[in-house]
Amino acid sequence: MNNKSLPSELQFAINLMAGCAAITTRVQKEHIDVQNKADRSPVTIADYAVQAYVAQAIWEMFPQDALVGEESSALLSQDEALLTAVTHQVRQLLPKTTPELICDWIDHGQGQPRGRYWVLDPVDGTKGFLRRMQYANALALIEDGEVILGVVGCPALEYKQQTGAMAYASIGQGAWWRSYHPAAESFPLHVSSVKQLSQSRILRSYEDSHTDAARIEKFSQLAGINTEPLRMDSQAKYFRLAAGQAELSMRLLSADRQDYREFIWDQAPGYRVVLEAGGKITDSSGAPLDFSTGRRLTNNHGILATNGWIHEEALSTLRRT
Ligand code: AMP
Ligand code: MG
Repeated sequence: MNNKSLPSELQFAINLMAGCAAITTRVQKEHIDVQNKADRSPVTIADYAVQAYVAQAIWEMFPQDALVGEESSALLSQDEALLTAVTHQVRQLLPKTTPELICDWIDHGQGQPRGRYWVLDPVDGTKGFLRRMQYANALALIEDGEVILGVVGCPALEYKQQTGAMAYASIGQGAWWRSYHPAAESFPLHVSSVKQLSQSRILRSYEDSHTDAARIEKFSQLAGINTEPLRMDSQAKYFRLAAGQAELSMRLLSADRQDYREFIWDQAPGYRVVLEAGGKITDSSGAPLDFSTGRRLTNNHGILATNGWIHEEALSTLRRT
């Protein structure tokens, strides 16, 4: 697929990634101020600035489309210093930005997940971002419960001897990657052809609290996998899987959070990339992911993403854990 044949929504989403990466990398060079949201998860200047930047672009280009983003302006509007810092960051890209516009844009990203809507995790893996490890700017378009396209921008990912790469895919058109360079070429992404579960490499969350590490260990033993899982924050895991650098990515519900249901922004962008690269994604019981249930995947428990070849064997092994 050369760039001329890209659907305009996909080209639009790809074009936004350079601005997102400019914000996150600049914030990382400066001081990263961290706040805690009501659910105690961390949020930074970068999360707000990226959501504001992407939301204004969607509002301008696709005014009919809703945006379902992770952030709201609730905390921001009570913290003048934080709002000033976010405004300063977005102004580097959009000189006419004001604090009022920032709050309006961020709240435009509190749309309803109905019909056709965009889904944004401005900084997926905020903890990885804070650790200066992996994180992603993740954007998808959903229409009637189907993920039409996904873009996973990974500014800190080392891939093909360079730092920073984005993966993107639209339905039926394969998965692709390119660097952030404005004139960069795109290259196809394909999952690996490893067919034996015992030879598989596992990707898992860096955060122990986001998964069931003991069960992954048990799974590895039963499957005869001797290599240590690769721990990584964010949907950068889906980039690695789509690129054939690992065979499965597992998210098992932790013992103390059996009620946890995935947010759509943590899955939708990478989901389309993995499927188009030839992989398969279900929940940990083998059920297809159901993106029609609102902000969370209410009907799904955990996630199993693989190169496809080993999926059934992985599921049957999981059932024995
Ligand atoms: P990861 O980097 O793969 O660990 O995924 C990061 C995402 O995990 C965050 O954006 C959160 O939305 C999500 N998350 C937070 N708490 C949990 C939990 N208890 N179980 C699974 N995922 C979680
Ligand atoms: Mg996230």
